[in-house]
Amino acid sequence: MRTKLAAGNWKMNGTRAALEELSAMATAADKGTAEVLICPPATLIASAVEQAGPIALGGQDCHDQPKGAHTGDLSAKMLADAGATYVILGHSERRTDHEETDALIRNKCRAAWSAGLKAVVCVGETLDEFEASNTLDIIGGQLASSIPDEATGHNLVVAYEPVWAIGTGKVPTVQQIGEVHDFIRSRLERRFGAGVGRSVRLLYGGSVKAANAEEIFLTSNVDGALVGGASLKAEDFVPIIDALN
Ligand code: 13P
Repeated sequence: MRTKLAAGNWKMNGTRAALEELSAMATAADKGTAEVLICPPATLIASAVEQAGPIALGGQDCHDQPKGAHTGDLSAKMLADAGATYVILGHSERRTDHEETDALIRNKCRAAWSAGLKAVVCVGETLDEFEASNTLDIIGGQLASSIPDEATGHNLVVAYEPVWAIGTGKVPTVQQIGEVHDFIRSRLERRFGAGVGRSVRLLYGGSVKAANAEEIFLTSNVDGALVGGASLKAEDFVPIIDALN
């Protein structure tokens, strides 16, 4: 059985005061069996450790090299040293803002694994690609090129985040989500074998909130969510954690 995962991506939001939100989230995490992960800005990871309790912490990106002359960047080892056990890689905002390619994301994934971090690799189509019915082609390509061969159910989580659903309040139908998640599962099984392919957790992300979480979580091959805006406040995120339990 795959352990359910409620993951929050705080993006570029939050100063130390925001860590107060963690205590109610930790209480919710304690109550259920679902794993809870918060990826705050990297500046907050080390200080979040105290309040996080059972909540796992993650970075939102890492460099693909272990160290060196890369001003402003963070290595996977630095994130791990600060207290992270996960890192989000290939988020569409990084693919857009920093022109990240599948090949770079694959290298970052290897760097994350070398440092002992689990990678949450994001895939997703743009609105144009969705409207042109190219979703599965795009996702298939991103999966093939962004994920290294050494993937396991322990070191990899895949998040399906349609770019047009992020922060827009628009969400695909549960049929559409199910179709993409089934497709991702079958691609992972084909490439890595049934054992690994069935053990990798698949998250849906894009405008998840308390009101739609339950039906999304009942969808085929959805093992949890990667939540942006609704993960910032405990009052919004706790009902999502509860819906998964
Ligand atoms: P929203 O939940 O704000 O749409 O963001 C989703 C996301 O990008 C999580 O990584």
